[in-house]
Amino acid sequence: MSPLSKQWFEPARQLPVYGEFDVVVVGGGPAGIAASWSAARHGAKVLLIERYGFLGGMGTAGGVTNFAGLFGVRHGEMQQVVHGVVDEIFNRLIAIEGLNDPQDGMQGRIRVRSYDMSAYKCVADQMMVDAGVEVLFHAWAAQVSMEGGRIKALFVETKSGRQAVLAKSFIDCSGDADLAAFAGVPFAIGDGQGSGLYPSTMFRLAHVNPDAALAAIGEFQAINALMKKVQVEKPGTYQFPREGAILRPQKNPSEWRANVTQIAQSNGQAMDATDARQLSQGELEGRQQIGEFFRFLKNEVPGFSQASITEIAPQIGIRESRRIQGVYALTGDDILNCASFKDSIGCSAWPMEMHAQGKIEWQFPKKPSGPKARLYNDLPWRMLVPHKVSNLLVAGRCASMTHEGQSAARVSGACFVMGQAAGTAAACASDTHDFKNQDVNALQQLLIQDACYLELEQIS
Ligand SMILES: Cc1cc2nc3c(=O)[nH]c(=O)nc-3n(C[C@H](O)[C@H](O)[C@H](O)COP(=O)(O)OP(=O)(O)OC[C@H]3O[C@@H](n4cnc5c(N)ncnc54)[C@H](O)[C@@H]3O)c2cc1C
Repeated sequence: MSPLSKQWFEPARQLPVYGEFDVVVVGGGPAGIAASWSAARHGAKVLLIERYGFLGGMGTAGGVTNFAGLFGVRHGEMQQVVHGVVDEIFNRLIAIEGLNDPQDGMQGRIRVRSYDMSAYKCVADQMMVDAGVEVLFHAWAAQVSMEGGRIKALFVETKSGRQAVLAKSFIDCSGDADLAAFAGVPFAIGDGQGSGLYPSTMFRLAHVNPDAALAAIGEFQAINALMKKVQVEKPGTYQFPREGAILRPQKNPSEWRANVTQIAQSNGQAMDATDARQLSQGELEGRQQIGEFFRFLKNEVPGFSQASITEIAPQIGIRESRRIQGVYALTGDDILNCASFKDSIGCSAWPMEMHAQGKIEWQFPKKPSGPKARLYNDLPWRMLVPHKVSNLLVAGRCASMTHEGQSAARVSGACFVMGQAAGTAAACASDTHDFKNQDVNALQQLLIQDACYLELEQIS
């Protein structure tokens, strides 16, 4: 008998009310930072609830250290096509020397910017303080209370015990759609056949010899050839969980980050981040894989013989878990065909990046010509609007997308865009806070006023 088939009754109880807000945001990753900042700057009383003691989401807790999805090819030239809150973050990071220059990869088809994680945490803190967002750290969103199709209260577990939070509207930026799932919004996990994008535990290395390392593996994916070579020349000496790795220098050139692990469940399918036991097992597995890859780097890769592991990310990096079913689901075809939408809330410039068993499969947008000569897509407002619950928006990697669409629009750039649109809409909502009836034109005008970049003229 599975231990979960046993049940226990939890007695009902009265809870203290932590506070009443206009907008409550759950999760302080890129989507939650953008949503909270934007809502507060539009005058809303905002509470941001985060289970850790710092912001950044996968960008800090998952050790990502890299902003992707912000730069795309427009009329043949690589340009930044996501603006708004991200410019504020960039300016503040640059002011404390926490942002790297743009780095190109994959034969000039992608451009990213890496950052110092501690700097990012501090910048995010200060942005919340400056905008007047109340942040509740070390608080776990645990359940909701519904009235009709609306969330009336959210219950959080804190060091002061379980408490209720009341709000007119809620934005789920938990990455795992926790709030939406509690509220009964339909969702999907992974590819529909039991597996999703494989997660990875990230780590950073210090004391790398930058010149030697750059000469050996400076070209994106050059590390893959070294991994293949050692498997041919010294078969069985090293176990690699997937075919290739992504190793990039950080702001400090002697510090590198490694994206190489791949965490599966016992049947070989991707670990399910919504399964408590698998998540726990995955943490053990991730650190074990890191030890093995570190041995390979030190012994076999130029520039790494004196390297040390400076940090293993606080948690396993989750690329995909629940994706809600909303009014529109962004698809893989939307990514490959550089889709434009009348209800665009901004752009997303990242290809499909499928973390499949043992490998990463990239698929880039097809080359368009004429007035649509751009290699990136719009994100539609409707992907934030869930079925069934009227005062809830869902932004970030758990928004409404297919498995393929999410493999692209899960990266930070798209999450900033979604978060900013959700926060702005929630702060400026009508009295009913019913997002199905959103005036999208009005929202687009507000986003443009707030220096976001929308390509509305592309719409035919
Ligand atoms: C290994 C890996 C490498 C990646 N590489 C890149 C890259 O190079 N560049 C890039 O741009 N993107 C990259 N990504 C993708 C990107 O980092 C994430 O998809 C992005 O951070 C998602 O943002 P989000 O705000 O939707 O969710 P998240 O970043 O997951 O943030 C969710 C937040 O909600 C909090 N939370 C969750 N549940 C609860 C709860 N119940 N109560 C309270 N708080 C809660 C979490 O602690 C977290 O802070 C990578 C992802 C992974 C896993």
